[in-house]
Amino acid sequence: MSGDVILLDRVSKRYAGGVVALDDVSLRVGHGELVAIVGPSGSGKSTMLHLIGTLDRPSSGSVLIDGYDAAKLTDRELSALRATRIGFVFQQFHLAHGVPVVDNVADGLLYAGVPLRRRRERAEAALVRVGLGHRLGHRPHELSGGERQRVAVARAVVGEPAVLLADEPTGNLDSASGAGVLDLLHELHRAGTTVVVITHDREIAESLPRQVRMRDGSVRHDSAAATALATGGGVR
Ligand code: ADP
Repeated sequence: MSGDVILLDRVSKRYAGGVVALDDVSLRVGHGELVAIVGPSGSGKSTMLHLIGTLDRPSSGSVLIDGYDAAKLTDRELSALRATRIGFVFQQFHLAHGVPVVDNVADGLLYAGVPLRRRRERAEAALVRVGLGHRLGHRPHELSGGERQRVAVARAVVGEPAVLLADEPTGNLDSASGAGVLDLLHELHRAGTTVVVITHDREIAESLPRQVRMRDGSVRHDSAAATALATGGGVR
């Protein structure tokens, strides 16, 4: 078992047709970190997200999430790992239409075996946490984009996952709402949640404590490794 929430060890991903989307990538993310994975289009960010999120398997190398080696789990066990340890937030929100936000969030606990009433209570608490305690019964179409993304964040964290994976979480938002969602991620980070943000936006990346820069399927720069070297701490 490793103490890291995310451990990628020499991971490569080749797609059919021979495209090498990730080439020998190693990455460690510890508990409570807030990390940006940043790079231009085509640099391998989505592939990295799919591998960290255990939505896809690497061609070589290993992926450990919260100490679990994804290669050693069956598809069913991987689904359980995803449902209980990984919270996802996507650019497009992915909320269920016509369903009150409290139930959208409560559904984040469906696979955790929590009874309905308790799911709703926890969903309410998560919505209060993201500043939407006054919107419990609203449907997603009755909310602004920024509010919808807050609902998606509440759904992602309601089960207290080991890691929150946010894929271009502000990509569909105006700058004020985007800043609000980033503030929320910072708040969660301060409260101890491990957060990984995938973005092509360097400004967003630079506002986060650690940046992992991707290009052509490789990690070109990791600010944490650079800091560790500068302080004589070695690569983490
Ligand atoms: P990013 O998210 O940074 O834009 P991706 O991980 O989507 O980068 O893509 C990395 C490379 O892999 C690109 O060259 C892309 O065209 C290629 N790629 C991504 N998905 C597939 C796929 N399913 N099949 C073939 N090639 C793919």
